[in-house]
Amino acid sequence: MIGFLMRKLFFRNLVSPLTEIELIESGFSIKKPFNTKPKLFNWEEIKSIRFTENYNTITIQKLDEKIVVKNDNIGWYELIQNIPSKFKEFDFKYTVELINSLKPCGICGIIAVRENNCIVCETITWNKKMTKNEIEYIKSKQLDFFSDRIKNGIEIKKIAEPEHGFKANKNWRLYI
Ligand SMILES: [Zn+2]
Repeated sequence: MIGFLMRKLFFRNLVSPLTEIELIESGFSIKKPFNTKPKLFNWEEIKSIRFTENYNTITIQKLDEKIVVKNDNIGWYELIQNIPSKFKEFDFKYTVELINSLKPCGICGIIAVRENNCIVCETITWNKKMTKNEIEYIKSKQLDFFSDRIKNGIEIKKIAEPEHGFKANKNWRLYI
């Protein structure tokens, strides 16, 4: 899984630039890397939206075109939470279960931990086998995660804010 928000938020040099999905009033837009103009998709012109078998991708069927959108695209998690209910074939139940199953991340403060790995900052959640002290672990990972911001003199917010369809953890603490 690629920590897409980290790349986006911290202005890293993009080694593999990512596609960006954004919600618009009548649908959504997809901006591919290096394409300056995003492609617009209207809910009206879409016939069906489905998850693929492994649930890591959705396929969007238009009359004349089929688009495949992977979960490492920026905005994917927000998109799947905003599919209109008229697309009966879409697995809304899975989406709700997936989002509800995410746990808060001690490092970045976003509720995006899936199977002990944060989708946003790519950090593995602390466990007793790693180190004795959880706070020390979080602190060192926060130093890694925010290192670019510190280097560039950008202020780090002390309160986590919701990002791209993920909720933020109100009890999150910045230890650095
Ligand atoms: Zn995180």
